[in-house]
Order: sequence, then C-alpha cells, then structure tokens
Amino acid sequence: MASPVEALLRDQLTERRERLESAASSVPDDEQVRRLLREVDAALARVDEGTFGICESCHETIEADRLIADPLMEYCLDHLTKPQRQALEADLDLAARVLRGLLPPPSQSFPGYEVARHYEGAGPVSGDYCDAVSGDGGSLYFAIGDVSGKGVTASMLMAHLHATLRALVPLNLPLDQLVTRASSLFCESALPSHFATLVLGRAGRSGEVEICNAGHVPPLVARGREVARIASTGIPIGMFCDARFSVTRLRLSPGDTVLLYTDGVNEARSASGEEYGIDRLSGLLAGKSAHKTPDLIAACLRDLETFRSGAPKEDDLTLMAVRRVD
Ligand SMILES: [Zn+2]
Repeated sequence: MASPVEALLRDQLTERRERLESAASSVPDDEQVRRLLREVDAALARVDEGTFGICESCHETIEADRLIADPLMEYCLDHLTKPQRQALEADLDLAARVLRGLLPPPSQSFPGYEVARHYEGAGPVSGDYCDAVSGDGGSLYFAIGDVSGKGVTASMLMAHLHATLRALVPLNLPLDQLVTRASSLFCESALPSHFATLVLGRAGRSGEVEICNAGHVPPLVARGREVARIASTGIPIGMFCDARFSVTRLRLSPGDTVLLYTDGVNEARSASGEEYGIDRLSGLLAGKSAHKTPDLIAACLRDLETFRSGAPKEDDLTLMAVRRVD
C-alpha cells in the first residue's frame, strides 16, 4: 500500500485509540470498548511490524478500499468468515440503495428540455455519476462523471461529488468557476490518488448551452444528421487543487440533443475484443436527435447489446440525453 495512505490510517488508528481510552475511563467495565481497544492496539502493532494490510490467512494484500473503510480488517475478501461475508453483503446492499437514491429520475421534464438517463454499475456499487437539476431563472444543470477507481471508495467519492455540485448550483456562479470550486473541494477531501472526470452543462430557456468538460469522454451534440463532439477542455477535477477550467458555448434548436455517457459505453468490447467506440455511438445518434430521450437511450442500449453479443460487462455504464423541446 502507498505510504501516504498508511500514514493516514495510522493517524486514524491513533485517534480512535484516544477516543476509546477516554470512553474506557468513563465506562471502565464496558466489554465492547475493551475489545475495540485490543483490536486497535493489534492494528497499530501490525503497522509497527510492517504487516499491516496483509491477510492473516493467505498473506496477500488486503484490498485498499476496504482498509480505508475499516483499518481493523485482518482478512482479504477471499478469506472472510461466513458471518463476515454476510455482513459485508448486507452493507453493500444498503450502500447500493443509498447510491440509487442519489440518482435523478430515469426521465424528467424541465422548462424547454427533456432529460433521460440510464445507470448501470458493473458491481453492486459504482463510481459513475449523473444528475440533472433546475438552477436559477429556469436554467437546467446536467452533469455526468466518472470517479477514478472502483467499488466502495469510488462510490463514496461519487456521493461526495453529488453533494458538492448540488450545494454549488444554487450559488449561480459562472460555470468555469463552479467547476473550479468543485475541483478544489474534491481535491481537499479525497485521497491524493483519486480524481473524477466530469461534464457539467447549463442550458438556458432559449437554447443557449454552456458545457465544461473536465477530462471526460466527449459529449455528442446532435442536430439532425450532424453530430459534433465537445472535446475535453481540461484535466479531471480533484487532480490538482488549483486547476482551472474553461467552457464551450453552443446553441440548441428544438429537436437538438446532447448525449452524455461514461467510458463504459465507448470502451465496451464485443466477444471478439473489438471496442464499441465513439464513432459508432455518433453514427447511431445521427438522424435520431429528435427522438424522445427515453427512446434514444433505449436505442443506444439495444445497439450496445447487439455489439457485445453476450460478452461480459466490465465497467459501470451511464448514459444521459438532454433534448431541447421548444
Ligand atoms: Zn486472504
């Protein structure tokens, strides 16, 4: 494990020890407090001996995201006892439900726009992110993102990103400043190794749209048979605390659509190992821009399914379509 993470966990363990000691002084006979103290001491001893984060059974490394969630872990996922495994599954199930609660409805109407999304994690919890909310003066904010890494840590950071953007939207900041602030907040609170790609858009009542693409796969803008890409204008958020971001401006006419997706779509592979690719997605979108957004998303998913022809899904997969309706 990287040493900054180990240092962080040692600080966490030391802090826990102090809290437990003060709890033990007020309830000296509490068996639970005494047991936790023994476990924390044992974990600190493992840090000193250099065996911290090593599975007691197979001596392989314990999964880093599990250690971050609970530094008292002594076994890797392969060597959990049955009750431990059941407790973990119940926890994951709850986490997945919490995450689903953070998603916008599958289809929504806003003044002048219609939005639909599809969200599908490769595992029980996912680091993909999408949202669509009303802003000041009837504008629509739409966002899609992908947090680096997988599993529980990525999903916690996804929830963090969700809360950050929901809190920043009502401030009605210029879009580049909004993303700059989101990036520095993400940078301050996430682990140094974690970042997120993000597309944040703001669509006004009369079709004026601003999009900031921070290191994400390019959103597609479809006008009739013509499909354009909004290239990334910056690095992912949270990678450097003082990063700055820029904005692309465009105008949508009624019937024009912006399609956002995560790399689980364009990097999907067929049974023969071929990549789906952005060109195929663009081709599919051409001529379908005026379709209702739920129909458009369904068409994308059908084409992906056909392309994959039974090959397993390897990544989280999110699609969101924003169409101007009048
Ligand atoms: Zn093991």
